[in-house]
Amino acid sequence: MTAAPRLVLATHNAHKLDELRAILGPALPHLDPASVVGARDVGAPEPVEDGVTFEANALLKARALARFTGLPAVADDSGLAVDVLGGAPGIFSARWAGRHGDDAANLALLLAQLADIGAEHRGARFTCAAALVTPDGFEHVETGHLAGRLAGRPRGDGGFGYDPVLVPEGETRTCAELTPAEKNAISHRGQAFRALVPVLVRVLGGAGGSGGGTGAAP
Ligand code: IMP
Repeated sequence: MTAAPRLVLATHNAHKLDELRAILGPALPHLDPASVVGARDVGAPEPVEDGVTFEANALLKARALARFTGLPAVADDSGLAVDVLGGAPGIFSARWAGRHGDDAANLALLLAQLADIGAEHRGARFTCAAALVTPDGFEHVETGHLAGRLAGRPRGDGGFGYDPVLVPEGETRTCAELTPAEKNAISHRGQAFRALVPVLVRVLGGAGGSGGGTGAAP
């Protein structure tokens, strides 16, 4: 018998879904992985992301999904903020070169823009806002950051998006050269989702409980 859905994750990005399952799995060992479903699995439409902050966009995605499914919903919004670009691409990270989700074009444009910028001015950070919304109106957001420097050219085959150019502080490798576990341990997404876990445990009724929102701050 397949497990009944208990929690729905608002990402349509397969890489991010895998990362989120890997982060949440160990933190919620009694939650059957099969009961954690993606937005695509439940046929949920993607809302227009018209927020102007990561937090606002994470919340609007989680709200739309909780409303559509009647389940607790988790959404994240994330991106890369480059110091010398005044925090851009920021919320426009996924469509920096014009077409949503064209990682190769986004990366090529960013590297071209920074071509003349020396290593000492190539600071940047990933940010992730992770939101939990329940059908009865409880809302909670956590944020995580991964600071580093941008390499001059892409390195590594792992990850997605801007991973091949972000070298985390204290590292010599890019995020795309880290193993998935190494990246999850330090990533903006890992931090935001691990911070959300205690709240999720409360909302899901404890480690093995029977679901449902609280409607009040845990
Ligand atoms: P979102 O799907 O609206 O959150 O947009 C996320 C975009 O930010 C992605 O398409 C990537 O371009 C970038 N991004 C966010 N997190 C990461 C990461 O962990 N590695 C590389 N790029 C990321």
